[in-house]
Amino acid sequence: MQLQGYEALQLRAVLFDMDGVLFDSMPYHARAWSQVMQEAGYDFGPTDVYMNEGRTGSSTITTASLAQRGTVPTQEEIDRLCKAKCDLFATYPETPRMPGALELVQQVKSCGLTPMIVTGSGTPTLLNRIQENFPSLFEPNHIITSFNVKRGKPYPDPYLLALERGGFRPDEAIVVENAPLGVQAGVAAGMFTIAVNTGPLKDEVLSEAGASLVYPSMPTLSKEWTTLHKALLTFGRKA
Ligand code: CA
Repeated sequence: MQLQGYEALQLRAVLFDMDGVLFDSMPYHARAWSQVMQEAGYDFGPTDVYMNEGRTGSSTITTASLAQRGTVPTQEEIDRLCKAKCDLFATYPETPRMPGALELVQQVKSCGLTPMIVTGSGTPTLLNRIQENFPSLFEPNHIITSFNVKRGKPYPDPYLLALERGGFRPDEAIVVENAPLGVQAGVAAGMFTIAVNTGPLKDEVLSEAGASLVYPSMPTLSKEWTTLHKALLTFGRKA
């Protein structure tokens, strides 16, 4: 484990990413994005979706357009493809909650910590389901989405906004992410970042992005939470 420039954690909040952490939604996102992007003429498969995970839709399309066409996409193309992706996603079966996620958020809350959500998503289908799947666990203004920031992950902006809204310093919060760009965003915001590898990428991709710890699944993290919480409370503190 490593600290990000402060001596000890004074843990008060846990900032959760949404897709691939709270909802098992990434297989559907991968399917919808790759289909819409390929129909628009991009070379963009499911692995590209996982490597871009965390970006806003607009940033995903802009990145692909710059790399493959050498031009910035028009706003019309961005709006059209984002809408097509959301519409397609909405036709899929309801995304299940990630196994272990409810238990973990409940544990976090009963420890007296504040759980927050920081997502690059602008998918209404999922955002509308947060309260029903995690009842009374997240305050509405503790949910940061792609609608709240101009620059999404891997920029630190969404995480910095979460800290500001919650009134927390970087040493008072930790991040739980599943994607390399999300991990980069948490680390860039100065926070101790934990990765949960719920997708097809290798663990190394997440540790190289800056994750201090990598867990294999949310049920594992939930099971080990009490031990981890204890370790984090004393972590970095001089005896
Ligand atoms: Ca994610």
